[in-house]
Amino acid sequence: METLATKVPGGYRVNGIKRWITNSPVGDLILVLCKTGETLTMLLADMHQPGVEVSAPDLKMGNHVQLTADVTFKDVFVADDHVVGPKEGSGLRTAISALVLGRMGIGAVGVAMAQSAFDFSSHYMTQRKVFGQELARMQHWQYKFAEYATQLEMARSLYQKAAIRFDKEGGADIEAAMAKVVGSRLACDMARDAIQVCGAYGFVKTLSGEGKNFPLESIYRDAKIGEIYEGANEIQSWVIARHIFGREYTG
Ligand SMILES: Cc1cc2nc3c(=O)[nH]c(=O)nc-3n(C[C@H](O)[C@H](O)[C@H](O)COP(=O)(O)OP(=O)(O)OC[C@H]3O[C@@H](n4cnc5c(N)ncnc54)[C@H](O)[C@@H]3O)c2cc1C
Repeated sequence: METLATKVPGGYRVNGIKRWITNSPVGDLILVLCKTGETLTMLLADMHQPGVEVSAPDLKMGNHVQLTADVTFKDVFVADDHVVGPKEGSGLRTAISALVLGRMGIGAVGVAMAQSAFDFSSHYMTQRKVFGQELARMQHWQYKFAEYATQLEMARSLYQKAAIRFDKEGGADIEAAMAKVVGSRLACDMARDAIQVCGAYGFVKTLSGEGKNFPLESIYRDAKIGEIYEGANEIQSWVIARHIFGREYTG
């Protein structure tokens, strides 16, 4: 955290650079978590005002529809009534409350990617014959897909449980952390095995001779970020461990 908000009459002057900011190349408003002395404060800034610069979109291995870019703030004025949350200094709590929702969302997106890879590859297995029989007749793959079907149901139930608890009680930090880890890991594992069982048809993006597109390579590339953003999965494990053992042990 290096972006600084310095108090001036009527508001703050913001200076710093934010990296990996989703939708920044197309956004009008931006939430900026800033250092205000010893505390953090969340400010809502207008992206069209002087001093805000957005770089060209980053080029990433996947998630191409989610644009990210650096955003630079040079002496950008933000008025006092654009402090988000109860008061100056409550920014970290505001940010964390948004992350809980985001983590559930990543769990759900992971399940959707895994389901899509599962549907494509399980159908393919009933069509493709190797050594005189369909891939779906091979017990190795039957067991793998039975296991994935079970994991899909578990991961789906977990993010839905987190969402229901959040709606009823206003918080679900632990379930959201679990849902994010399970959903994002499942998407990566399922995409890898779906490609494996489909062989070259899993690896190909466009079969140029037939002008046909195949979905698994993009799911494989898109799935990976779920294990990293909104707090890497190791950080989620830390959150869960803290719930089990307490801060005294986990820090
Ligand atoms: C596509 C994309 C969109 C993003 N959108 C936004 C956005 O809109 N706004 C925003 O603020 N940020 C955004 N981010 C940033 C994102 O939240 C961070 O990249 C993510 O939280 C991980 O932080 P990091 O990249 O600094 O990794 P680091 O913190 O450097 O961690 C690197 C790796 O180290 C390991 N690690 C780190 N800490 C621990 C630990 N305590 N124990 C064990 N292992 C550990 C993990 O394996 C982790 O993956 C985005 C990133 C991407 C790629």
